[in-house]
Amino acid sequence: MDKINNVVWHDGYINKSDRNRRNGHESGLLLFTGLSGSGKSTIAHCVERELFRNNVNAYVLDGDNVRHGLNKDLSFSPDDRKENLRRIVEMSKLFVDTGIIVLAAFISPYNKDREFIRSSFEGDNYMEVYIKCSIETCEERDPKGLYKKARAGIIKNYTGISSPYEEPDNPELIIDTEKDDLDVSFSNVIGLLEKKRLITLK
Ligand code: ADP
Repeated sequence: MDKINNVVWHDGYINKSDRNRRNGHESGLLLFTGLSGSGKSTIAHCVERELFRNNVNAYVLDGDNVRHGLNKDLSFSPDDRKENLRRIVEMSKLFVDTGIIVLAAFISPYNKDREFIRSSFEGDNYMEVYIKCSIETCEERDPKGLYKKARAGIIKNYTGISSPYEEPDNPELIIDTEKDDLDVSFSNVIGLLEKKRLITLK
């Protein structure tokens, strides 16, 4: 018999609705998707700060940071990318269950992967924010110097250079960081959270 068959889910006394009620806001996962350098982390951290100031429990999950810890045993092979995503989804589900708004900044270049994430959550528990920015501008910004390395062939399969980025079909929000400045960008995200009734700011 498979080991998992002897593992039984144990329900607690307190559930997500109880936690959300006490917190005074809903929880959910906001996925910031877009090219490297488009502004995902910058915007996610500004949103986190604004929510913190308003007593809303939120936390930024950053793709690179997760690969330093929980997923440091994983490479960028197709199988390991899949496992990377599976762990991120499971971790996010736990965060959401604890009552936190997760601000996940991941390139997540493939439609099928984003569909998998969406299908792992219920309704407004998941929202996609497409951080739009041309490859030319991202490369010009190159905040981590990674485009330079990708152009030099030092980094293989780099999204936007040697690996594709599929634009989301139906994101809940599009932020164009070549047109909107940071203030507009992050307040649009706050607006989305209010519109979807995850939060009510006074
Ligand atoms: P990503 O997380 O998508 O890889 P980062 O947030 O790390 O991107 O870097 C984006 C860079 O672009 C930062 O240096 C940031 O200051 C700059 N930037 C310029 N305009 C904007 C904007 N409107 N929104 C977000 N970032 C911007």
